[in-house]
Amino acid sequence: MRPSVLVVGAGPAGLSAAEVLSQAGWSVTVVDALGSAARKFLRAGVGGLNLTHSQPLEAFLETYGPHRPRLEPYLGRFGPAELQAWAGGLGVSVFTGTSGKVFPQGMGAAPLLEAWLARLSRQGVIFRTGARWMGWSSQRDWEFEDSGGAFRLEADAGVLALGGPTWPNLGTGGSWVSLLEAKGVTLAPWRPANVGFTVDWSPVFREKFAFQPLKETVLTFRSVEGTPWRRKGELMVTPWGLEGGLMYAAGARLRNGIEAEGRMAVALDLAPGRDLNRVEADLSRPRQGRSLSTHLQKTLGLAGVKAGLLREVLKPGSPDDPSRVAQLLKALPLTLTGTRPLAEAISAAGGVRWDELTPELELRRLPGVWCAGEMIDWEAPTGGYLLTACFSLGRAAGEAIINSRIGQET
Ligand SMILES: Cc1cc2nc3c(=O)[nH]c(=O)nc-3n(C[C@H](O)[C@H](O)[C@H](O)COP(=O)(O)OP(=O)(O)OC[C@H]3O[C@@H](n4cnc5c(N)ncnc54)[C@H](O)[C@@H]3O)c2cc1C
Repeated sequence: MRPSVLVVGAGPAGLSAAEVLSQAGWSVTVVDALGSAARKFLRAGVGGLNLTHSQPLEAFLETYGPHRPRLEPYLGRFGPAELQAWAGGLGVSVFTGTSGKVFPQGMGAAPLLEAWLARLSRQGVIFRTGARWMGWSSQRDWEFEDSGGAFRLEADAGVLALGGPTWPNLGTGGSWVSLLEAKGVTLAPWRPANVGFTVDWSPVFREKFAFQPLKETVLTFRSVEGTPWRRKGELMVTPWGLEGGLMYAAGARLRNGIEAEGRMAVALDLAPGRDLNRVEADLSRPRQGRSLSTHLQKTLGLAGVKAGLLREVLKPGSPDDPSRVAQLLKALPLTLTGTRPLAEAISAAGGVRWDELTPELELRRLPGVWCAGEMIDWEAPTGGYLLTACFSLGRAAGEAIINSRIGQET
């Protein structure tokens, strides 16, 4: 008889495990609590599915920061190049954007997912959606609940690929945590990653500039460890603070700083194309009775949200001589007071601790059960790093099961 495996969670990690196992001839059943597979993956495609990144592997791995040593063994086997080839194998070509990010042609996730699910079905994978995993009655017996009530499924091995607690309508909000904790499995606390930060904007600024992009801005700050951080990119002003690529890239450091000190001081360079002297010289041109806003626009081409930010910091009545304004434009001080909630985050840090897992991703306390994807304790910025690692971990779990004692015995 073919060995059987239950994959719980039909996101990219679970589907990757199912793919490898079904290719190897295993009888695979994929169960998901939601009514259809890979809801978060599909949602990720709404603004353009950033599948992976085209930078050299060394730079790619470096982006995982302190999590690199844990993830490298898996990413070394299935990384950005393999993921692009995999998409091509499904008939979906990819392209590299100007920033080096890799997207499927057409940007969306639907064609890729459709082709993937069709291939998995052809390989014999059985899908049971709308069924929530509720725990185990014995080592081989898995308990589920769907609209028809409770039922059990038996399998030789199991993969948990349950995702994180973000965007709860696209998953189960991490409700599976108590099931693992009941078995003694420890988890690192969930923390929001790739999320917005709060800034106490004045009501006037908030009303006028919420949801306006801040292009060509340099973010600088000093991490709690004292390391300087500086990068150019884009931000979005939100009613509650700042969000966007730059905040995501700096996110873990900013979040750690806020956790340690309650707030984080950052600075924005709103005129990165000119140095301080040049900005001051430009602003020193005769003002000829013009308002500061008009002068900024005439001399530096600064208007809209950038000018609004300057006014937000330069309170009415305070000096607005060229030297002071230039200094503010080159290093506008802002205080981040917190992170937005987990439910809004693109991903989560925290989850099943690495020391609960063997290097093959099997739970030490629950032999026969493997874990994969975002439910494990790692994090990465946006840029395709999240999905690449989820695919990679899912495939690694599948391969490990094939090579395990269960795979060899059955
Ligand atoms: C808005 C948004 C945009 C994103 N954009 C990108 C992007 O462009 N690039 C990128 O790299 N990443 C992106 N991400 C992150 C990426 O989508 C996730 O990291 C990835 O989907 C995680 O994959 P996973 O398989 O580990 O978990 P998930 O995709 O979360 O899948 C887990 C599955 O487990 C199921 N499940 C949970 N508990 C149970 C249970 N008890 N019983 C049954 N089933 C259960 C859930 O229903 C879910 O379908 C984005 C995320 C969001 C929210």
